[in-house]
Amino acid sequence: KLYNQVQDLKGSIRVYCRIRPFLSGQSNSTSIVDHIEEGTISVSTMSRNGRGCRSFNFNKVFGPSASQEEVFSDTQPLIRSVLDGYNVCIFAYGQTGSGKTYTMTGPKDLTELNKGVNYRALSDLFHIAEQRKDTFQYNVFVQMIEIYNEQVRDLLVIDGMNKRYPSIIISFMLLKMFYSQTGFNIPDARLVRVTSSSDVIDLMNIGHMNRAVGATALNDRSSRSHSCLTVHVQGQDLTSGTILRGCMHLVDLAGSERVNKSEVTGERLKEAQHINRSLSALGDVISSLAQKNVHVPYRNSKLTQLLQDSLGGQAKTLMFVHISPEPDAIGETISTLKFAERVA
Ligand code: ADP
Ligand code: MG
Repeated sequence: KLYNQVQDLKGSIRVYCRIRPFLSGQSNSTSIVDHIEEGTISVSTMSRNGRGCRSFNFNKVFGPSASQEEVFSDTQPLIRSVLDGYNVCIFAYGQTGSGKTYTMTGPKDLTELNKGVNYRALSDLFHIAEQRKDTFQYNVFVQMIEIYNEQVRDLLVIDGMNKRYPSIIISFMLLKMFYSQTGFNIPDARLVRVTSSSDVIDLMNIGHMNRAVGATALNDRSSRSHSCLTVHVQGQDLTSGTILRGCMHLVDLAGSERVNKSEVTGERLKEAQHINRSLSALGDVISSLAQKNVHVPYRNSKLTQLLQDSLGGQAKTLMFVHISPEPDAIGETISTLKFAERVA
């Protein structure tokens, strides 16, 4: 039985597609979604030859009425495997406005019902750890970083942070030593020890606040950087003394929309080029893992370098691919679906 469980937990890549509902005020438009059937989505396309239809296959497709709970439900086994010592990556991919942050975090007016994957994953993690407390002793550490123009920025460092959380902050060097045997690629960012999901919520709020600094309504940097919440778990088997280490990366990727090179220049063009390069590097890594290629091109972007230990091998990867229902977005939607089909 144990053997089967281990087999079950071995590396895998799953791709789920999620369609955002129309937002209020847009209800007159017609959705580009023709129909959804289990793992297949068919979208209406328009071309010179008239109206057409294209189908794409995924592990699952979540329609516009899918609840946050439903979307999370298939993710639960991954949380268990993190506590069993495996590595997990969960990505949200899609153009800006397609619902990535909604899936990972939730909407602005957060409630118990609409909270996203991050909150649910952490609350499950602590719940399972609690259930196992007679057999395992778990330590949980959190990091939150942003990758912008191939530069890593620590989102858990702000003024006053040391004063507010003196007891839970432990030094990076100490943990680096602690983890060095595992060969983990820990980014040079603060690791904070947490003991409950409410600790993590506090930290996520700090991270989100920190991320918003410097952004204006017109210059929303959050759509042009990748943000990554990483949870490191160390568990000690109380009988044998064996130590297990697992980690989970929850990644809200930069918007995948292509920009028109003739319209943007300077900073904006540079950003767009960095985003294109890193998203295609991610696509290349995942598709070469899916094809079981010997050479996996991790070195082509910061994102894939940082996640190297959690992509491939026995690690599990889950990608939520987001699309918008609006006919205006069809070009981006098709290119999102093509990207996703390549990694699925
Ligand atoms: P992204 O992070 O991809 O740019 P957001 O998650 O910010 O997109 O979503 C854009 C808007 O659509 C937000 O107002 C968000 O609350 C809303 N939205 C996204 N997905 C859903 C959904 N499944 N149900 C209801 N509202 C959603
Ligand atoms: Mg977002």
